[in-house]
Amino acid sequence: MSAGEFDGLVAIVTGGASGIGLATAQTLSARGATVAVLDRALDGLPDDLVGFTADVTDRPSIDAAVAQVAERLGGIDIVVNNAGISAVGTVAENDDAEWARVLDVNVVGMARVTAAALPWLRRSAAASVVNVSSIAALNGLPQRALYSASKGAVLALTYAMATDHVAEGIRVNCVCPGTVHTPFVDRMLQGFADPVAERAALDARQATGRMVDPVEVAAAIAYLASPLSVSTTGTALDVDGGVSHLRPRPA
Ligand code: NAD
Repeated sequence: MSAGEFDGLVAIVTGGASGIGLATAQTLSARGATVAVLDRALDGLPDDLVGFTADVTDRPSIDAAVAQVAERLGGIDIVVNNAGISAVGTVAENDDAEWARVLDVNVVGMARVTAAALPWLRRSAAASVVNVSSIAALNGLPQRALYSASKGAVLALTYAMATDHVAEGIRVNCVCPGTVHTPFVDRMLQGFADPVAERAALDARQATGRMVDPVEVAAAIAYLASPLSVSTTGTALDVDGGVSHLRPRPA
């Protein structure tokens, strides 16, 4: 892939102010896209990205932000549904309010943003939606019942949206990252008595000996967002250092 492959295209990246979303927004921008970051907090956003404060759980805020993006930037060609939150626990440990809160961000949020962008995606000759799922959708991760269910729903939503919109020329795919070293993981590590030792243990549990770098997920998202993947829709691309399918699993 080369610089300039996204010239003339407008991309929305939700949750683009941090971690995988920020790396994706910067990758798409470096390759020529005009990138709008939709995030509930825009602190420290680099100057080459246009920020819109919006919460994916708030439909009026999303509708307004998406319409503003299209008006100010001249349309919408790409949507990266990346905003997501974590949840730890078994089914016995997450209450109904926690289920509703996490599903609202991780699943309904993606549907809201995509629905708001559809009128402009339908007019684009390079329309692509990329959702961020997780290896949690594919593997029974301990203490992640709610999070896994939310990411499994993202996978199913991807297949359903790909089917519904293929005739309109809109492609929909997702990525399933493994453990990616982002602020999301750093916050989780802070919950352990010895975060440094836990970080080392986490790296050691990866088949490759280290966590995935956010730019590696961004590169996969960029491929699925780009016209180079024009024949690819309704797929999930694992970016997990092999943990989902290599056997034996790392200890
Ligand atoms: P992060 O916490 O570093 O960044 C998430 C961003 O989303 C933040 O900027 C946050 O402000 C924004 N956000 C959260 N809730 C929002 C809302 N309601 N409305 C708008 N913006 C909101 O997280 P990350 O690690 O970069 O994760 C990004 C995505 O990747 C998530 O969907 C996550 O589930 C997924 N993922 C992460 C990992 C990992 O190991 N880090 C692995 C697999 C999948």
